[in-house]
Amino acid sequence: MAEKNSELRDKLFYIQKNGYAIIDANERSLCENYCEDYKSFLSIAKTEREAVNEAVKIASSAGFLEYKKTKTPLKAGDRLYRNIRGKAVMFAVVGKKPLSEGAVFSVAHVDSPRLDLKQLPMFESDELCYLKTHYYGGIKKYQWTAVPLELRGTVVKKDGEALHISVGADKDDPQFVITDLLPHLGEEQMKKTMAEGITGEGLNILIGSIPQNDEGDDKVKLTVLSIINEKYGITEEDFVSADLCAVPAFEVRDIGFDRSLIGGYGHDDRVCAFSSLKAVTEIKIPEKTAVCVLTDREETGSEGVTGMQSEAFDSFIEDLCVAGGVRLRDCYENSVCISADVSNAFDPNFPDVSEKRNNAKINYGVCLMKYTGSRGKSGSSDAGAELVAEMRKIFAGNGVVWQMSELGKVDKGGGGTVAKFTANRNIATIDAGVPVLSMHSPFEIVSKFDCYMTYKAVKAVFLQG
Ligand code: MN
Ligand code: MN
Repeated sequence: MAEKNSELRDKLFYIQKNGYAIIDANERSLCENYCEDYKSFLSIAKTEREAVNEAVKIASSAGFLEYKKTKTPLKAGDRLYRNIRGKAVMFAVVGKKPLSEGAVFSVAHVDSPRLDLKQLPMFESDELCYLKTHYYGGIKKYQWTAVPLELRGTVVKKDGEALHISVGADKDDPQFVITDLLPHLGEEQMKKTMAEGITGEGLNILIGSIPQNDEGDDKVKLTVLSIINEKYGITEEDFVSADLCAVPAFEVRDIGFDRSLIGGYGHDDRVCAFSSLKAVTEIKIPEKTAVCVLTDREETGSEGVTGMQSEAFDSFIEDLCVAGGVRLRDCYENSVCISADVSNAFDPNFPDVSEKRNNAKINYGVCLMKYTGSRGKSGSSDAGAELVAEMRKIFAGNGVVWQMSELGKVDKGGGGTVAKFTANRNIATIDAGVPVLSMHSPFEIVSKFDCYMTYKAVKAVFLQG
């Protein structure tokens, strides 16, 4: 009886295994190599513009060419990309089948939570100079004090000249910081809620302290502006036409004695962006056209000209369709999309917010998410059973270790991705990605195994979706 039941259990129960119980030595080394490439990418790509630049660089060296509206007929194997205002980008490898039979999309976002500088950011107070910020995306404000920061972004001068700014990454660069109150005097602060202890208007970045030796106002600000002017040729007014932000200055590092995890800023969602990029650049001639989309503005709802709701994305696909005499809507209707975005990993330090059976776990592989949303699944799309079944089949046939996931217990909160925006275009869409610990913090954690499996998953779907 006991033996028979054990057979029955093996046959009937859905048993998931830790990836390290499955992976062999050869695949472990492939996983390590993949993650080294990812770490290099993440070290460079700390803003959406930097991610787009780096992605274009990687794709160009893999033979992708910028697609202009030449109306030249496309042929299978053509490798094309379109840069969307420097903040988003789409890569396509043309398939053997016409676009009327659909394309396979993988959409990830390259924006991450950060501290944007305000338009008039610079001020001096009590002989210290600061930059005022307006945070972008969902952050826990207290996490951004007393950690080293870099400044990155683009300033466009009145004459149109664009300057890329990056201060704090080089060993010889200065860094910046938002100060916090010492515990000795923090009694009142510590009584506040964590949401109130540090305010949005309190996120002011310290950038200098040496006063000019004169009787005028803002002596420290003058010192700092003089240094900035000498280095970049800009004045205070130029901050008005700039996309500048502060990001954590932490290096991307292996975490754990076994080096199984990666710590860094911006895994959400550059970890999925890199998996999609890597997969699309490795494809030769797919059956269906494979499209990797790296989008912007996800953290604030995908709105705006470079967000997934923008028609810029439709324009590129429509151009490809027109070249093949296909209607865009026919292409969409037969397409499949992976909304490649991170999920929360189960955290034993905070077990109460997750329902263990359905939450993603570290080292259990790429996580599929049928739906996101909050409360009664509001604000999400819900992948059809047919599409989930298709994914199961593709993953099973390609050695992809995967798991199902949800964003926390019912009514505990929730979240969203770009899935609903591709689904609204009549593209069958499912969320899939890497589980993350400390998501949206200045130093997020992912597992190397899960990163590698996400790449394998996207590649398998590109080839067979
Ligand atoms: Mn995300
Ligand atoms: Mn996010």
